[in-house]
Amino acid sequence: MRSSTLKWIVLCTTLLISAIIIVQLYWLKKVYSLEEKQFNTNVVKSIRGVFEDLQMNDNPAMNLHDLISNPDQNFFIFKADTIPEKDSLTFYLRKEFEDFDVLTDVKLGAYSKVDHRYIYEEYIPSVVTSYPVQNLSGMPVFDPNFDHILLYFPHRNNYILGQIGFWIGTSATLLITLISLAISVFYFYRQKFLAEIQKDFVNNFSHEFKTPLAVMKIAADVLSNNNIIEQPTRLERYASIIKNQTQHLQNQVTRLLEAASGERTELPIEKQNVEAAELIEQAINKVQPLIEERNAKLELRMDKDKFEIHADKEHLELAVVNLLENALKYSDDPKIVIEAGKSENDFYISIKDNGIGIEKKYVKNIFKKFYRVPTGDIHNVKGFGLGLNFVKRIIDAHNGKIKVNSLPGIGTEFRLFIPIN
Ligand code: ADP
Repeated sequence: MRSSTLKWIVLCTTLLISAIIIVQLYWLKKVYSLEEKQFNTNVVKSIRGVFEDLQMNDNPAMNLHDLISNPDQNFFIFKADTIPEKDSLTFYLRKEFEDFDVLTDVKLGAYSKVDHRYIYEEYIPSVVTSYPVQNLSGMPVFDPNFDHILLYFPHRNNYILGQIGFWIGTSATLLITLISLAISVFYFYRQKFLAEIQKDFVNNFSHEFKTPLAVMKIAADVLSNNNIIEQPTRLERYASIIKNQTQHLQNQVTRLLEAASGERTELPIEKQNVEAAELIEQAINKVQPLIEERNAKLELRMDKDKFEIHADKEHLELAVVNLLENALKYSDDPKIVIEAGKSENDFYISIKDNGIGIEKKYVKNIFKKFYRVPTGDIHNVKGFGLGLNFVKRIIDAHNGKIKVNSLPGIGTEFRLFIPIN
């Protein structure tokens, strides 16, 4: 399966799972609201029953609806012309609650407007569930101008949640299943991604190591020829080919070893005072064979003054070598400008090419280990995707910064900033 197809499948699955989770949560909320409504209706029905049982309302024309109110979600009030006896009120309330399935604890208080206080209070525990008794000391007064009964349901929310327990249970099971599915899809994707990296790596490995070795073998064969002593120019040329290819292999091995040592291990940086121009010139020397091979034009713009920076010479030089190699690799007819100098508190080195450039959306990824800008299934330019990661680690170890300016088809500039102090 192509990785782009897989990416779409993973994206669609993630969206679908998220949509199902959102719909599920919406339904759960809806079920809770319905159950809440049902609870309120049942409480009101029970209060109406108590009104009839105790004939509490002197005026039959009075609409009961006006006498019952719900000032807060856990409280109900019903106004009474005469406050009934505590025992009979408790008895009938308990009976009506049982009849209408209000099976949770309730605390009642009978308020007298003459006495300006609750003249009695009673805690009625639920007949089915045993909740921890939550006895509200000092019942709040919502309506001091009427005699009324206040009902307080301390466990209302838990009771409603208990009523919809089945729905919560099934939703939780579904959520756990979906989340596990999402995690499995993610791991599957990662596995596939790693397999692709591995395939790429093996392909590139053969190119990056086999080619220099083959070139070196040919050069060695030429050097082992008895007549070579009589052709000093040829001898020198083949010796330098071997030297350059060895240098290239050494560079590749260093990158691989650095990558294998992991992100978390700090680079062994040994700083010293380094002459910047010398460092850059040595880096250029190291890629000289490649410059010649690619017939590249290289321009160095740098102040004539000597400038010293405090840096790890070997590593910083390797960073510049990596950037130069890339500039040469990713340009058809390479024209490279190297610029260096002081900018505020940093020393900067800029390497600018006229190559293929990098699309903006890929720039944020190019410093990741093994990342290579996708070019469909064709990779004309071989590499491990480790060079820039290595450059970043080196610059990070110097507390420096890297800026990338790139335009596809125009070229790329990498600007390294090394703090001076
Ligand atoms: P690689 O071994 O693939 O060159 P790097 O880590 O050096 O690995 O670079 C990562 C990717 O960034 C490359 O595969 C290439 O697509 C892109 N890249 C790096 N330098 C340049 C450049 N100068 N011009 C265009 N693309 C570049």
